[in-house]
Amino acid sequence: MARTSSALLLLHSPLSPCCSTQSLRLWTRTLLRRQSSLRVAQTRTKPICLSIAEASLDARKEDIVIVGAGIAGLATALSLHRLGIPSLVLEQAESLRTSGTSLTLFKNGWSVLDALGVGDELRPQFLEIQGMVVKSEDGRELRSFKFKDEAEGQEVRAVERRILLETLANQLPSDAIRFSSKVAKIEKNENGETSLQLLDGTQILAKVLIGCDGIRSPIAKWMGFTEPRYVGHCAFRGLGFYPNGQPFDPKVNYIYGKGLRAGYVPVSPTKVYWFICFNSSSPGQKIIDPSVLKNEAQKMIKGWPSELLNIIDLTPDDTIIRTPLVDRWLWPVVSPSGSTSGVVLVGDAWHPMTPNLGQGACCALEDAVVLSRKLADALEVGPASLDDALSSYCKERWTRVFPLTIRANLVGALLQWENPVVCTVRNSIIIPKLVKLGPLLEHTNFNCEPLERRGNRFPIN
Ligand SMILES: Cc1cc2nc3c(=O)[nH]c(=O)nc-3n(C[C@H](O)[C@H](O)[C@H](O)COP(=O)(O)OP(=O)(O)OC[C@H]3O[C@@H](n4cnc5c(N)ncnc54)[C@H](O)[C@@H]3O)c2cc1C
Repeated sequence: MARTSSALLLLHSPLSPCCSTQSLRLWTRTLLRRQSSLRVAQTRTKPICLSIAEASLDARKEDIVIVGAGIAGLATALSLHRLGIPSLVLEQAESLRTSGTSLTLFKNGWSVLDALGVGDELRPQFLEIQGMVVKSEDGRELRSFKFKDEAEGQEVRAVERRILLETLANQLPSDAIRFSSKVAKIEKNENGETSLQLLDGTQILAKVLIGCDGIRSPIAKWMGFTEPRYVGHCAFRGLGFYPNGQPFDPKVNYIYGKGLRAGYVPVSPTKVYWFICFNSSSPGQKIIDPSVLKNEAQKMIKGWPSELLNIIDLTPDDTIIRTPLVDRWLWPVVSPSGSTSGVVLVGDAWHPMTPNLGQGACCALEDAVVLSRKLADALEVGPASLDDALSSYCKERWTRVFPLTIRANLVGALLQWENPVVCTVRNSIIIPKLVKLGPLLEHTNFNCEPLERRGNRFPIN
């Protein structure tokens, strides 16, 4: 990457067309380095208010910039890398996110992780979940399912987010991620490049900008998207730790109450993920004190099956969180497109969805490979077709993510019913007699072919 950027810097220098000798190149490089260190020194004392013209002079030039080193950003960088395409990932945090809980990944997520070449590294670290048990709040079993009986080839594992991120990042070149790099401003310049201004004053010009910056995406905002909408319920999540081994069968356990539901799933031989989802008219104040969170969570499910209360007791402080659930419906015509000239969105930045189907991260993984393949195809034709590739990605992925976002929302609304009569009908008729799991898992059918390197097409000229 460093080599690519300095090559590009020279390529775009006003001196380059007439510079053919080695010495002149060296002189140019030294001059540029001096200029750039001078400007870094200047920007430390200056507020971030350079004009585009000023910024373009000392900007670092990159072909593909990805903002956000979450699942979407790292999977996109790795897909591109597997196809032989370098990119630079900018992450606002100082390091990869190390706290947090787990994500349940279904066979569509695993198909992408296999294509990225990390599936077999992750599988042995996480238990394969065989099925699902649904209980009422008094602990009565309402129904149980085996995934393999309901949906052929289904693969379900809860994966620790930290390990997933580290595994993806470890496959990238060492200079592919730039931490402490918060994007503070985005603009377009007259060459059609996107100019990014980082909080530390660094200027970056990107030919293709991929926004993987999560639910509060500044890039989505810049593209005209509204803030995601709060859906009326919040979730507590945590990761119980059993140093001497956890006692549970490898099954997802759901417990349904009135306007309140909870669940747990074994992650590994020593860890168990749990969640509680509750109705609340507002997202509420942000609480970060883990003992307050633990207390609130346990109070909410007082009298519910004791194993759940025990798992919460065994949850280390840095893995317990409370999140208001949000989504954004990408209405045709009304919503902005997920891409505009040279800029595109991936994952939660584009289509935040509620976690009721366990598909947010799975879809971000799918987005990553679809977009990378489209970009690789376009680069074989020539840079003029890059924008077509971005809109083709959006068209293809919209038909996938729009219905899923709505379905996840409706499932959540049904499961958060408060009316006691409706809950009785749900627990005595709908769940035990009517629900069929197979059709509810059809959305996990997504096959992903391996990503193969296609030769060097860089830099983008
Ligand atoms: C309660 C809950 C449970 C869930 N369970 C599941 C599940 O079981 N299965 C599943 O598939 N999905 C699940 N999800 C969804 C899943 O967590 C998300 O879909 C997924 O994490 C999205 O990843 P992302 O990379 O798009 O965004 P994020 O993980 O939010 O990553 C965005 C990154 O961008 C960085 N960033 C933001 N702004 C800037 C900036 N200005 N400059 C630089 N960097 C920036 C952030 O620091 C962050 O690292 C769940 C979600 C919730 C809320």
